[in-house]
Amino acid sequence: MRLRNVPGSREAIAESEFTINEPQNYKGKWNEVFGNDKPIRIEIGMGKGKFITQLALDNPDINYIGIEKFSSVLIRAIEKRTELDIDNLFFIRMDAETIADCFAEGEVDKIYLNFSDPWPKDRHAKRRLTSKEFFARYDKILKKDGVVEFKTDNNLLFDFSLEQIPMAGWNIVEFTRDLHNDEKMNAGNVMTEYEERFSAKGNPINKLIANR
Ligand code: SAM
Repeated sequence: MRLRNVPGSREAIAESEFTINEPQNYKGKWNEVFGNDKPIRIEIGMGKGKFITQLALDNPDINYIGIEKFSSVLIRAIEKRTELDIDNLFFIRMDAETIADCFAEGEVDKIYLNFSDPWPKDRHAKRRLTSKEFFARYDKILKKDGVVEFKTDNNLLFDFSLEQIPMAGWNIVEFTRDLHNDEKMNAGNVMTEYEERFSAKGNPINKLIANR
């Protein structure tokens, strides 16, 4: 995502009632943030939050947390959030590298990764959100029978992910290289901002679901 600096966004995010500013303080206590024990699902690298906001609107019995490292896009999600009368969506501005410091073992019900940055240079492979290093972090926070769902139009990143996930000791439960023409995997699909953009250009969308 190419980002323009949005002046004042960092401060506005920190002051928002929808941002959790010191997420490590809530490790093991996210039910207190939401005021209930409903399952918690997170999207890592949510950009402007179109996908996770739609999920929160559609599923009031599930709690959602959107995680994004760049203020300039997160601020757009917060602006939209302020217009909504829902109580099941919060945001964290952070680099997901330290995600295991913020959630306790088994505290997360599901993890969504959508159109994650490809980091094309080999020496940056560990930064890819589907690298085995990141799956080792997800292993620490995702409940035992929880799943990671990943969508991308980037075939190289998808191939890399299909290799790395088993290397991290996880299983690929199912996958498709053409989500929008896969009746079963596409059922109930909520499109992300990038998914709309790239599928409009004719790019097939890859999706995989992983568990361990
Ligand atoms: N998920 C959205 C979608 O599908 O429309 C946005 C996709 S955009 C290409 C990827 C986003 O992931 C960017 O906003 C980027 O800042 C964020 N991101 C990448 N690595 C991250 C990390 N380690 N921690 C948090 N956010 C990250």
